Amino acid sequence: MTARRVYLSTTIPYVNSRAHVGHALELVQADVLARHHRRIGDEVRLQSGTDDNSLKNVLAAQAEGISTRALVNRNASAFAGLREDLSLSFDDFIRTSSDPRHRPGVERLWRACQASGDLYRKSYEGLYCVGCEQFYAESELIAGNCPEHGTPPQLVSEENWFFRLCRYAGQLHDLISSGQLRIEPASRRNEVLGFIAGGLEDFSASRSVARARGWGIGVPGDASQVIYVWWDALGNYITSLNFGASRYGAPDPGDADYQRWWVHADRRVHVVGKGVLRFHAVYWPAILLSAGLPLPTEILVHDYLTAGGRKISKSAAGSTAEATDPAALASAYGADALRWWLLREVPRTGDADFTEGKLIARANEDLANGLGNLVNRVVSLAHSCRNGAVRPCSRPPGTSRFLAAAADGRDARGPAGENQGTGDDLSAAPEWPADAGRLRGAIEAAPAAVRTALARFDFRSAAIAVWQIVEEANRYVEATAPWHLARAERAGDKGAGQRLDQVLGALLAACQVLAAEIWPFLPDLAARVAAACQDFGGRLPQPKPVFPRIDVLPDGEVTASTGPGSTGPGSTGPGSTGPGSTGPAHEREGGRQYPAVAGGPDQDLRRAPRRPKVSEVA
Ligand SMILES: [Zn+2]
Repeated sequence: MTARRVYLSTTIPYVNSRAHVGHALELVQADVLARHHRRIGDEVRLQSGTDDNSLKNVLAAQAEGISTRALVNRNASAFAGLREDLSLSFDDFIRTSSDPRHRPGVERLWRACQASGDLYRKSYEGLYCVGCEQFYAESELIAGNCPEHGTPPQLVSEENWFFRLCRYAGQLHDLISSGQLRIEPASRRNEVLGFIAGGLEDFSASRSVARARGWGIGVPGDASQVIYVWWDALGNYITSLNFGASRYGAPDPGDADYQRWWVHADRRVHVVGKGVLRFHAVYWPAILLSAGLPLPTEILVHDYLTAGGRKISKSAAGSTAEATDPAALASAYGADALRWWLLREVPRTGDADFTEGKLIARANEDLANGLGNLVNRVVSLAHSCRNGAVRPCSRPPGTSRFLAAAADGRDARGPAGENQGTGDDLSAAPEWPADAGRLRGAIEAAPAAVRTALARFDFRSAAIAVWQIVEEANRYVEATAPWHLARAERAGDKGAGQRLDQVLGALLAACQVLAAEIWPFLPDLAARVAAACQDFGGRLPQPKPVFPRIDVLPDGEVTASTGPGSTGPGSTGPGSTGPGSTGPAHEREGGRQYPAVAGGPDQDLRRAPRRPKVSEVA
């Protein structure tokens, strides 16, 4: 398969308050897609940022008694910090109020639409929700209130610039219904087609400077007006590529990123929430059509999260938003645990309900008991039975290269993906044991299943496909009982010894493949598994837990433990786990804390996330 060029974006949230777990969902989904494409050798650029120019930000700053600039700077930097908190891999982060690339790009886009005759002035009166930053028709309101916010809109009357949206209804319909602009899932595509069929009205593309409180990007050539914040925000997908660097109508070397990642990308993919679908699937493509620019190729739509059964609201004090601050959750439980809940639990369609208890239960079941226990058993057995020297059975090409990169703390990204030459000498690998067919099958099936699922934007199915390997490997451990083989070998049974080599070879291969397969989903855990299962000079490192259980004590304190359940009957080798096992330098976790666990979803966990006391209880 030839490498493709994929440009991926998240939406850029308003920064009137801090991030909540719903933002984390979108960021993590986009990150998984980016990492997946990097791993299979595609060329990828992942874009994120913040929408600073909203009137909401101005009002939030007034409420706090600080300047808009100060509020925006503070909250935008918290969003940017999620890159580290959630182990995201975005390549660029644009802030619409301060990035020098943004304003020239928005101005260029405006002028291009103006040149097409699609911007005109008109007096207007309408019902405006500041929360949504959009006008509503009376028929769209619910009992007179905004359908998103449940608050009454303001009656606004002024002269604005209007964008001639109605002109593009036919083209939009054709592009979307033919799939040239693909909207996933189909139910969302149908929703957009229905909206278009209902008739598109021109929309107001500017605000008076007074109503915008002077905050935002001025309309070129009209000092009385500020560009509508959504127009400005949607432009980020190309202004971040330095679209504004080239003079209008005359391409120039300054816009090389724009040419590379927008004009000449194979896929231009926007990941968006259902609430902003209309802006991305109707307004934005129409603006691009007017400006004569290429359209996105895909719009992938996710639904919303609730928290403890309630809508996540960032406006109410002490709200669900505060209780689901992704930075605090990642700090308490680790980025892996939060990412895994978002990926493994949130269905393809329909809203999902988040609680900390569910996050902990899922992390303990899958990451500590499932994968963590597997890796610990295999590496411990390798040490107790073979002094750490086990030759893995053959694995997909690229596994060794991935392990080396991950164990060095490098990303397994870029052209050195799984399709490249690898350094794996497959002919020297031991044969797969005949009874490991199901495990091999899971390993062989996972890559295609992940590709298919992610092509449908179905993260849960992709996660389940990878986890088949964990489940089959654990089943294989139980079925083969390598500790019995070791005992028989010690009693002089040579056949048992040969069988043990094969079994350990199969299990080690499975763990190594898992490190590579989970990387797009759980990059930090993948690095720890890679380090644990990487053969250094013919030997595996001393065993060390890759994901201890998360224990929540009755007082709410979170601790990590590697107590019973996280090891198996096989882990009886000297120094197998626990605080005493100080591994070589390549095993360190790069400064990231990760918690471990016990305790269940039934405990009272509905409180603000805490910093964990990560103490390992042997
Ligand atoms: Zn609203």
